[in-house]
Amino acid sequence: MTQIMLSLDIESLEIISQGIDNQGNIILEVRSKKSHSTCHKCGKPATKRHGTAPKVKIRHLPILDTPVYLVIEPIRYQCEHCDDHPTTTEQYDWCDRRSTITKGLEKYLMRSLIHSTVQDVSRKEGVGAPSSCLDKKLEKRLSSIFRHNSGLKKQYHQMSQKLF
Ligand SMILES: [Zn+2]
Repeated sequence: MTQIMLSLDIESLEIISQGIDNQGNIILEVRSKKSHSTCHKCGKPATKRHGTAPKVKIRHLPILDTPVYLVIEPIRYQCEHCDDHPTTTEQYDWCDRRSTITKGLEKYLMRSLIHSTVQDVSRKEGVGAPSSCLDKKLEKRLSSIFRHNSGLKKQYHQMSQKLF
């Protein structure tokens, strides 16, 4: 099979390996190009590598209608500014803390939402738990987006009445 080098559209990541799991999903092992984190205690850059956190699997935009998952082993960094050298796990600009989907996928789902319901979108995209965390998250995001776009305000209001 010919290997196609896939592009992630995420500047801060590089792909280490790519494969297909037994459910036919595209699995991309990635790592961050960044070499520091921000100390959770003092807010200064923590630059000394100190082990890794357990691997996480984060869903990204589909490619050719195939689900794509990013697998990353977050790096822990130690702060040399603080006396007790606390460690902070790296954070990403492409994914919110503890989220299981990338910001790119979030945006895509929201675009899909404009002409359908949360239930439709989650069924179509196979994204779980439409009535719990996704709803809340989407509601928050959508309201901030629509707040800055008066033309869409009315549409959002009608949609939110229907959805949330
Ligand atoms: Zn610190």
